[in-house]
Amino acid sequence: MASDSPPDSVVAWHTLEAEKALEVLQSDRESGLTTQQVTERLAQYGPNELVESAGRSTLAILWDQFKNIMLLMLMGVAVVSAILDLRSGSFPKDAIAITSIVVLNAILGYVQESRAEKALAALKSLASPRVRAIRDGKIVEVSSKELVPGDVMLLEAGVQVSADGRLIEASNLQVRESALTGEAQPATKHAETHLQEETPLGDRLNLVFQGTEVVQGRATVLVTNTGMKTELGHIATMLQSVEAQETPLQERMTQLGNVLVGGSLVLVALVVIGGVIRTGNFSTFEELLEVSLSMAVAVVPEGLPAVITVTLALGTQRMVRRQALIRKLPAVETLGSVTTICSDKTGTLTQNKMVVQLVDTERHTFRVSGNGYDPVGEFQLEQQAVSPEQYLELQTLLIACILCNDATLQYEKDQWVIFGDPTEGALLTLGAKAGVDKATWARKLPRVSEFPFSSERKRMSVICEASDYRPITATAADPIQYLMFTKGSPELILERCTHMQVGDRLEPLNAEQRAEVLDQNNQMAGRGLRVLGFAYKPLATLPAEGSDAATEKGLIWLGLVGMLDAPRPEAKEAVARCRAAGIRVVMITGDHQLTAQTIAQELGIAQPGDRVVSGQELDRMSLQELEDQVDQVSVYARVSPEHKLQIVQALKRRGRVVAMTGDGVNDAPALKQADIGIAMGITGTDVSKEASDMVLLDDNFATIVAATEEGRTVYTNIRRFIKYILGSNIGEVLTIAAAPLIGLGGVPLSPLQILWMNLVTDGLPALALAVEPPEPNVMNRPPHDPQESIFARGLGSYMIRVGIVFAVLTIALMTWAYGYTHAPGYDRSPDTWKTMVFTTLCLAQMGHAIAIRSNVRLTIELNPFSNPYLLGAVTLTTILQLLLIYVPPLQNFFDTFWLSPLELAICFGFSALMFTWIELEKLFLRWQSARRG
Ligand code: ATP
Repeated sequence: MASDSPPDSVVAWHTLEAEKALEVLQSDRESGLTTQQVTERLAQYGPNELVESAGRSTLAILWDQFKNIMLLMLMGVAVVSAILDLRSGSFPKDAIAITSIVVLNAILGYVQESRAEKALAALKSLASPRVRAIRDGKIVEVSSKELVPGDVMLLEAGVQVSADGRLIEASNLQVRESALTGEAQPATKHAETHLQEETPLGDRLNLVFQGTEVVQGRATVLVTNTGMKTELGHIATMLQSVEAQETPLQERMTQLGNVLVGGSLVLVALVVIGGVIRTGNFSTFEELLEVSLSMAVAVVPEGLPAVITVTLALGTQRMVRRQALIRKLPAVETLGSVTTICSDKTGTLTQNKMVVQLVDTERHTFRVSGNGYDPVGEFQLEQQAVSPEQYLELQTLLIACILCNDATLQYEKDQWVIFGDPTEGALLTLGAKAGVDKATWARKLPRVSEFPFSSERKRMSVICEASDYRPITATAADPIQYLMFTKGSPELILERCTHMQVGDRLEPLNAEQRAEVLDQNNQMAGRGLRVLGFAYKPLATLPAEGSDAATEKGLIWLGLVGMLDAPRPEAKEAVARCRAAGIRVVMITGDHQLTAQTIAQELGIAQPGDRVVSGQELDRMSLQELEDQVDQVSVYARVSPEHKLQIVQALKRRGRVVAMTGDGVNDAPALKQADIGIAMGITGTDVSKEASDMVLLDDNFATIVAATEEGRTVYTNIRRFIKYILGSNIGEVLTIAAAPLIGLGGVPLSPLQILWMNLVTDGLPALALAVEPPEPNVMNRPPHDPQESIFARGLGSYMIRVGIVFAVLTIALMTWAYGYTHAPGYDRSPDTWKTMVFTTLCLAQMGHAIAIRSNVRLTIELNPFSNPYLLGAVTLTTILQLLLIYVPPLQNFFDTFWLSPLELAICFGFSALMFTWIELEKLFLRWQSARRG
């Protein structure tokens, strides 16, 4: 219906009063839109999405493929080979083949890269923020894509604003708009402001804009524009694109490429000069040049870059299946080298399902029964149920619990669920168990102002109008207009109290009472409970915004509330796995020392007697002092986000590779500084997600460990196929160089055959090796140095050793085959020896692929079906190789000759020696390590 839809014309929303704006958009501040309105508007305005510009253009990705120095060298080889062929009057087959393979390789690289970019983009959209909105009179959580003009959305600190909107209500709202205006300082926003039409964007203080970040406060916002109609949508440059960074490994591969190309050019020069000197003239120059060209092609691992890209992309997919979402590709690799994981406690190591167990006031300690968020349970004193309303200080404390609270408790789909902070949810449940209901009390004592919670302040206060309610301790003469309720870390709240409530009396707090409260706090924390302190204060006037330090003083102490947040059952095992894997787990929490220590001990992160360092101690330490101790401390308590930054810096200066979790707005710097910044998918703020390398979709510590395992597997597999590919390249080069040296006429392998080997017979099995399942010991060994050279830990020596074995086998076969095919009476082409060399090299690589699956276990000890791709790749490649030597058109194209059954059997026999050699190497290594004990 036309009359039901809001105007589609451009409205200057900042000039309208909030009520007027609601009217224009036919919405309601209390109940928001109806489901039907939302459906209609979604159809009319489309989803709230920015049309992303593609990361890199198609042409740019394609062009990048040709920037590879190895491909450039191949093109050089093609040109020289074409000149040689044309001069001798033959068809420039090799040149055409090389060119087509260069082009094909570029296309393959292009397809893989654009797929990887798309996959990353899709993963990124998985992390699209959730927004709290009011619809049909209820608070609901929706994906930001589903917002429509007219929606009433709720903002709080840490949220990234998902659409443009007019403020309906705001409290201490500060928004960082640097993404839009370039202004780094957060802007303070007000709902009631009425502005001129020409007010510039940065001064429209009654509006919020998509893409900006709420730094502090809360607000209720009427969505005015979504998708491309937002201010952000207008600025095309602000569109976020997927970051396509080169991973450290890809960088190292580029360097490797340079070394190989340089090396092969030197080899070419040596062979040509050496040959000319040997013959004393230029008669064999062309043949030498051909040998050199083949060597140049042989040394380049043409298939490697593509295999690496695919491996990393597959790694991210496996990780997302295990609930770890990679936002930056290099993280896949870095994860494999993590030495220290710094984790938050609440929600990551614990379940974040809080249940209040104890309430402690001056006169009594109440036990509270019940499970989860169900408001069913009783208050007990000495195991006897009591009625909470009989205890006056308890009543006031419960009112503080539910009013100094931003969460909501709702009954949905047969269960009680909370929206907001679980700590606050538990307090609502506590109140409800005593019949103290938030809605009723919020009407009696409406909130007029607040000092919001932050991890630095570790407390929050709300100020309520007290016209309908006077605390029991007030006398008729007290000029009470407002009541302030404060909750937070007990030590901090107690410091700010001057009195305490005892029944219906106020008593000045003496030193003894303070010591008693702190002692009680320690006892509760020592049992692993998360403890909050509560206080209140009557006020005659409304305090100014930002006067928190002055106002939150002279408070009246009410009591302590202790809630249980049990450790996640899987976290203990994950910590043990880390220990076995040489990874140290460090707990960094805003919570109390004893709570932190108890939970850390339960999880095996700390041992009894281990030192716990507090935020206060960190404040007194220099970075150098922290650096000296940082390797010994496993628990940090009562820390603020800036301490996290110090800890990461100290760890990094000790050479540790640090993964660090964070969820708040102010955790962003520490997340950026860490080698792997990890944000929480469920409870994390958008700002922290934006700063992270990886997002835990389930907020679970065990997921970090799972991702680390995947990272290690990826890195091991990459090293495995580099060994595999480069070993064979060295074998090829040596074989080709040997032919003229031992006086065999002709080049054993043509450039075309070499390309075939490097791309197909090496490439396919290498791809299959990329999905090799993790070795059982992958989490039972220490992490590797991320700076280590690509040739470290025996990779370089393996390549040379295996390359030589390859060459020795093939040269032996080559010498025999040359003699055999040149013997009198041999009735087929004397060049058949070349096909035997070609085939032996290919088949030997199949044996190599099967044997290299494990460094330590023999092939017969492995389940052949645990990597079916490898079986498939080896079978397919062998068939393709046979087609090449038995199908006439392919024979012509690849210059091969058919082999007799005996010749083929001899090739198989020589190739099998390669497999045997690697298995013998494993046995030797085992024997050696057994001897060393
Ligand atoms: P972690 O850092 O492991 O997530 P945490 O939740 O204890 O643990 P913060 O969120 O920084 O860390 O909280 C610090 C302290 O502030 C808490 O230990 C608690 O005493 C207090 N606190 C937490 N939430 C609130 C809240 N909603 N209102 C008032 N005080 C709070």
